[in-house]
Amino acid sequence: MRSYKIALIKGDGIGPEIIEEAVKVLDAVSFCEGFELKYEDYLLGGAAIDATGDPAPKETLEGVKKADAVLFGAIGGEKWDSLPRDKRPETGLLKLRKELQVFANLRPVTVYDELVNASTLKPSVIEGVDLMVVRELIGGIYFGEPRGNDGEKAFNTMVYTKPEIVRIAKVAFEIAMKRNKRVCSVDKANVLDVSQLWRDTVEEVAKEYPEVTLSHMYVDNAAMQLIRDPKQFDVILTGNIFGDILSDEASMLSGSIGLLPSASIGEKYGLYEPIHGSAPDIAGQGISNPIATIASAAMMLRFALNEEAAADRIERAIKQALHEGYRTQDLSAYDAKEVCSTSEIGSIIANYASK
Ligand code: NAD
Repeated sequence: MRSYKIALIKGDGIGPEIIEEAVKVLDAVSFCEGFELKYEDYLLGGAAIDATGDPAPKETLEGVKKADAVLFGAIGGEKWDSLPRDKRPETGLLKLRKELQVFANLRPVTVYDELVNASTLKPSVIEGVDLMVVRELIGGIYFGEPRGNDGEKAFNTMVYTKPEIVRIAKVAFEIAMKRNKRVCSVDKANVLDVSQLWRDTVEEVAKEYPEVTLSHMYVDNAAMQLIRDPKQFDVILTGNIFGDILSDEASMLSGSIGLLPSASIGEKYGLYEPIHGSAPDIAGQGISNPIATIASAAMMLRFALNEEAAADRIERAIKQALHEGYRTQDLSAYDAKEVCSTSEIGSIIANYASK
């Protein structure tokens, strides 16, 4: 029997409850498709600080590398917000991404037909939206040196090298080849030198993909165009900070941050996580939406384990649950037949995925 090791990082806030539902669904589909998943838990973020004093303990950074993939919940919370930056939960996640060298963050944004009314935008604008944000994840201004803050002056540095741009651009073009063959590269080349190198390098990489149409857009315009006419986009390729902001903006096209998955991939490792945070405001109440995490588990099956049929099962089951009118609280105002708890929606999806 095919057998895979999955490292689970539940994290803080709603992290444990959403991971529990993803595991429920993974167990259902692995049984149906005849493979086995073995889970191992690792600590990161606030939970790791409480247990070890370190947001990214060595056992986690080394342990997860032995797994076939990492499924991650979310980290962070007020309790740890006053710690110095290098001791905070978010630093743990940045360290994990860097350690695994997961340089490409893939964020698909699909608008479910059943939830077109859940968006703040008009249905005519968002119906049929299907785009993928490809964000560079381990470079740019979040990691650039020098950086500092002496209380009077503070600075960060946006740095990209050509090889870093080439490898992320290739991911975007490869994905576009499997989709609608359009890449829109987003930068700020009218102002930033680093963006000019980005643009020139993406142009060079594009020559290897003559079937793909490349366009460029300044990030301020892209922020506007995502709201004005999101259907114009197929693959959006961008750097770390622009991608962070644009992908959160894009997430609202779908109506809830609780719906959208992500995959962070590198040459060797893959980290699969919902795009939202640990939602401390609703943690422990059983009302969080686990769909983003369940959909991240589907991406994990597809990209890391090559278990396409199992991934399809999950994605079909999510659509079916929404189609049948099952909604968690965040979506309860939109054609809900039944408002479900976190655990109930997980069981419904697991059940549909088994059929
Ligand atoms: P958040 O994404 O946690 O929450 C924003 C809002 O969306 C909240 O009202 C929350 O209740 C809601 N929400 C989020 N996920 C939901 C879900 N699955 N179902 C229903 N509602 C959901 O962002 P925030 O409030 O800015 O941050 C909270 C904490 O999470 C902070 O400590 C932050 O640093 C951390 N954070 C972690 C990650 C991560 O782990 N990758 C990402 C972003 C923020």
